[in-house]
Amino acid sequence: MSSDAAGTLTNEMSAPFCNVALPVPLRTTFTYAVPDALRAFVKPGCRVLVPFRKKALVGVVVECVEKAPTDAKLREITRVVDVLPALTPKLLELGQWIANYYLAPIGEVFRSMLPPVTELSSRREVVLTTAGKTAAEELGKNVLLPEGSGEESRALLELTGKKRPLSLPSAIKLGFSGELLQRFERRGLIEIRENVKGRKRKTQRIIAWKSGGVSKPADAEKLALLRALLETTRGPLPLSQLLKLARGSRSLIERLVREGVLTSWEEPLDLAEDPFDSGYEAPAHTLNPAQESAFGAIRARFELGEFGVQLLHGVTGSGKTEVYLRAVQDTLARGKTAIVLVPEIALTLWMGRQCRAWFGAQFEGVVVLHSALSDVERAQAWWRVRHGDARVVVGTRSAVFAPLENLGLIIVDEEQESSYKQEETPRYHGRDVAIVRAKLENALALVGSATPSLETYHHAREGKYELLTIASRVASRPLPSVEIISLREEFQQTHKTSPISSELHAGIQECLANGTQALILINRRGYSWSVLCRSCGASVQCVNCSISMTHHKSRNRLECHYCGSIQQIPEQCPKCHSKYVYFFGEGSEHLEERLRKEFPGARIARLDRDTARTKRQFQETLGAFAGGALDILVGTQMLAKGHDFHRVTLVGVVSADASLSMPDFRAAERTFQLLTQVAGRAGRGDLPGRVLIQTYYPDHYAIQDAVKQDYAAFFKRELHFRRVMAYPPFTSLANVIVRDMSLEKAIQWSRQLSEYFAPFNNDGVRVLGPAAAPLARLKREHRFQFLLKSKSRAKLTRLLSGALAYCDAKEIPQTAILADVDPLSLL
Ligand code: ADP
Ligand code: ZN
Ligand code: ZN
Repeated sequence: MSSDAAGTLTNEMSAPFCNVALPVPLRTTFTYAVPDALRAFVKPGCRVLVPFRKKALVGVVVECVEKAPTDAKLREITRVVDVLPALTPKLLELGQWIANYYLAPIGEVFRSMLPPVTELSSRREVVLTTAGKTAAEELGKNVLLPEGSGEESRALLELTGKKRPLSLPSAIKLGFSGELLQRFERRGLIEIRENVKGRKRKTQRIIAWKSGGVSKPADAEKLALLRALLETTRGPLPLSQLLKLARGSRSLIERLVREGVLTSWEEPLDLAEDPFDSGYEAPAHTLNPAQESAFGAIRARFELGEFGVQLLHGVTGSGKTEVYLRAVQDTLARGKTAIVLVPEIALTLWMGRQCRAWFGAQFEGVVVLHSALSDVERAQAWWRVRHGDARVVVGTRSAVFAPLENLGLIIVDEEQESSYKQEETPRYHGRDVAIVRAKLENALALVGSATPSLETYHHAREGKYELLTIASRVASRPLPSVEIISLREEFQQTHKTSPISSELHAGIQECLANGTQALILINRRGYSWSVLCRSCGASVQCVNCSISMTHHKSRNRLECHYCGSIQQIPEQCPKCHSKYVYFFGEGSEHLEERLRKEFPGARIARLDRDTARTKRQFQETLGAFAGGALDILVGTQMLAKGHDFHRVTLVGVVSADASLSMPDFRAAERTFQLLTQVAGRAGRGDLPGRVLIQTYYPDHYAIQDAVKQDYAAFFKRELHFRRVMAYPPFTSLANVIVRDMSLEKAIQWSRQLSEYFAPFNNDGVRVLGPAAAPLARLKREHRFQFLLKSKSRAKLTRLLSGALAYCDAKEIPQTAILADVDPLSLL
């Protein structure tokens, strides 16, 4: 138990006021009064329930203060949600840093750091105001209601008749229209209030042996069995399990508890053990010299016991995981705790499994955190960590906020992955936050990759980070051979535009004949990603976004991948009504169908966001492929990273081009990374691997360098481009989007903002724009874009924060301005 927890038991009174960060899009905290009864419990980091406008919100106490900012009477805190403050002082500090650096509303930052609130349940209720009561009384006196006063009067009377406030849904069920309720509310007759109550946690009864009681000699045999179970072989057990194991009766146990032979208590319900993990044994390798030297450098850092950043740059299949695991082991042995971040939920499964196998038994506590857990699961896992019951946390982006204390190590695997960047407020980058947190906690940040981001590698070369390199694969396995297939040539020869070239076809055939496996990567999901009219050239666009709709054959409809809107498949062109509508651009669903046709005997599965909606589906498909029950796995990017399949001898990339043609300065970097990563999935076992990349741009340097798997060459070229173009890592960037459903407003606000920027332009910050954003319409909103570039981070932050304050002053709604500091994508 932590020292904070002990603190709650003292009688020390906190201050009469506190500042609370609330999950609202406002860049400020709010001051509340602390009622005397709650004084002992309100501490920085605690979640509290407070009234806010007409709602009840859960916020975080940022600080306790002696004086209120105004003399006006402040509203009071309603309830303290946590006994132990949810956020540690270090996490509070980290949250403040994020709010300042990313210019994000502090309350929204804390919301994304915290587990879902499962301790409270809320319902909206309809309550009569004093005016409403008077009105109803008046009505009640008139025994005969005037004609036509019908609905309203009856509704009011109905409300007074209720003993308890009516919940909003039941009011609607009773036939009160939403409109009527709104009218009442406007006239001050009723109030719609949020009523928040504590929710009971699901618990189970645990039984334990308590020496000292006496029992009837007749029970001797049963007692011996119970004692053996509870004291020696198993320890305290949930009642249900004990009944099964001891084949005992409930009444006997109850009696023994009463007699004091056994003791019992309630505990939160445990999560069932993940069947995926049971029986798994982690391979235990002896480190090879390259791994040993990397690990040596990590240990040397630990010896220093101070903050540092190390970049582990190891080619694909060089055994980085093994080094990570030893680093975690070393951290634990020093009595500290560790976080391991991976870029995808699917990878938490693998990494979590490794960590459990390595540390689960010894240290009890490996917790996996990711967004696919249910709220209750996530909250439970989070609190296990907070209570100090877990010492290793494996997770995706937000696991960087895992409330571990005494943190010694944060690992960020595949640090270049864009999934570390949160694309909604707060728009933080998990890797960068990991480094800042390591600094706050005096810990080591170990970031790893085969293809580090330009920024990270640049820092390593400049000496800001320590560079650890593993240049070859384990067991001297060769890197796979990579070949380019020019789709231009293929077309000239065959005059067909099949997504599977004859060479790729032959490669797959060979795999099947040898009994090895093939991995086929395609960058789009769905059946066809464009629907065009041959007659007028119009494409079917989303009604809300400037993006074409994707055809999903199995669901028999068109879908927008940006906003999720759905359309029927048109029989004729929506513009010119011609019947010549055709589908264009094959997606993963189509490719799977084609592979099934071309290779009828093969066992094929597809993995993309349509087929793998749940963790179970992921596990099943990955498990089947790893276990050899599949020959070909088709999928999107999610196949490209991390996985360690040993029987894959062929990796096919159907088209390398989509990511290259993006209007984005990171297009080349992203393409290089993707191709190198996916190529790295081949030849990881004893069989050599082969990679076929299909492209229309065989000469592009991103593709050429990926073929040679030459990171150094790519880095040199790309860095030159970044320098010339004044892009990161040579400048700091911020992307500001002005957006609104109304085009006029979006234009007007862009103009205002542009006036604000004008006098500052070229004063150390270059402001480009406003221009229509590349995605000019998204989710019904019109979007304009400014790009801010500066060599000085401080100047950039200052200008941007000034701009946001200006928008507030001009009453431009905060939701209309989207500021993205260090954007990964400029779309
Ligand atoms: P990376 O993450 O660098 O791509 P992995 O950590 O997945 O590589 O390791 C690749 C494979 O090599 C894994 O199957 C792993 O079990 C194996 N491996 C790691 N270290 C060694 C070693 N020292 N000797 C033999 N095999 C190893
Ligand atoms: Zn048409
Ligand atoms: Zn859309």
